[in-house]
Amino acid sequence: MAWRVPFIIRSVDEHSRTLKEKEELDDAIARSLAEVSKRPGAYGWKEKDDELARPLQDSLKPPIWPPYAPPVPQYYRPSGTRICDGCKQDIHYGNYLGCMGTFFHPQCFCCRSCGRPIVENEFSLSGRDPYHKSCFKELAHPKCEVCHQFIPTNRAGLIEYRCHPFWSQKYCPSHEHDNTARCCSCERLESWDARYISLGDGRSLCFECLESAIMDTGDCQSLYHAIRDFFEGMNMKLDQQIPMLLVERQALNEAAVGEKNGHHHMPKTIWGLCLTEEQTVTSILKRPRIGGHQLIGMRTQPQTLTRRCAVTAILVLFGLPRLLTGAILAHELMHGWLRLKGYRNLNPEVEDGICEVLSYMWLETEVMPGFRNMPSAASISTSSSSSKRGGKSSAEQKLGEFFMHKIANDSSSSYGGGFRAANAAVNKYGLRRTLDHIGMTGNLPL
Ligand SMILES: [Zn+2]
Ligand SMILES: [Zn+2]
Ligand SMILES: [Zn+2]
Ligand SMILES: [Zn+2]
Ligand SMILES: [Zn+2]
Repeated sequence: MAWRVPFIIRSVDEHSRTLKEKEELDDAIARSLAEVSKRPGAYGWKEKDDELARPLQDSLKPPIWPPYAPPVPQYYRPSGTRICDGCKQDIHYGNYLGCMGTFFHPQCFCCRSCGRPIVENEFSLSGRDPYHKSCFKELAHPKCEVCHQFIPTNRAGLIEYRCHPFWSQKYCPSHEHDNTARCCSCERLESWDARYISLGDGRSLCFECLESAIMDTGDCQSLYHAIRDFFEGMNMKLDQQIPMLLVERQALNEAAVGEKNGHHHMPKTIWGLCLTEEQTVTSILKRPRIGGHQLIGMRTQPQTLTRRCAVTAILVLFGLPRLLTGAILAHELMHGWLRLKGYRNLNPEVEDGICEVLSYMWLETEVMPGFRNMPSAASISTSSSSSKRGGKSSAEQKLGEFFMHKIANDSSSSYGGGFRAANAAVNKYGLRRTLDHIGMTGNLPL
């Protein structure tokens, strides 16, 4: 039985353009592979060792399907000694094809992706594995996780995309400017098939973060107690009863402005505050309900905070997942602790650095209990580690790892730089000695 070379005949006007586009795309993939390592700043797309095998397949094209006997080169002549690399059976008669020194029955030359025979004249090679061109594109051309389309090529003809350093969420660069919502907590972009919840103050929250979100002041009290217990477990008990309120973004920003000796280094987004002035703050009294993609029915209440000690209150943004809320609480409570214990006028890098260390340590006891050698803190974490709905889900666990990653990799000098320096000191000398040294000198021990 003769096996005929399959030719795909296309009408020139209609199909040649799509064929050309496909070639341009293959070209772009190949060039992106070559260029990716040379492009600082742009997150690159890389497939190890993979390449499009244009030169190879071109050289194979004419003799690849030897039709009948005469014009076939010597080494393609059928003989009983050839073994099909697909089915491992002898190739006795009929057609076969050679590829990279191996031989196949036509029906055994199959795409590594879909497993079906490759009958087209052109195919893609990755290492020694052949693919249908379309299967290779499906496999290798990155798809956007926001709009779910193939990521387009840029003006230079390269596939350029953004990729979140922790979540590895890949997306078209255009979504950074087309009002695609970003979760205020985990930073992931909203995908077009999964709408986020609007918190009503310009922030959006994804469903994973919403799962453990803390929505009102009453809701947050048990977590606040757990954080205070965590401090106590490290011999940093606070005797004063400092009120803690959950607030909207607007209220938090206003309170920050109302602080006379406020941070000079106010970050762009404020997550929490340790108040030292007497102020009237509007807090969230009753949690809102979720209606559609919004929150409805929230009740707030203005509250005048009077000074009973050097710290008047701790404020935290509402609507954040439990682990992030706790991390913020630990940071702000550490500011309070420093103030109440008489640490004054620390430079922001030292102060916020050590506050971030407390935040990080608390997350550590929640996310990986027993990791640090902190017997007292670890025993506390077992009682406080389960969230309101019982044990932590794997999504919540991953979120906790993200918050730790964020603290450790923050690029600002006071938060990120401060954390890395303070954490190094704590790892070397322990928390107590580090704090004593800060108390005496205002600086971290070297
Ligand atoms: Zn075979
Ligand atoms: Zn295939
Ligand atoms: Zn996209
Ligand atoms: Zn989120
Ligand atoms: Zn701070």
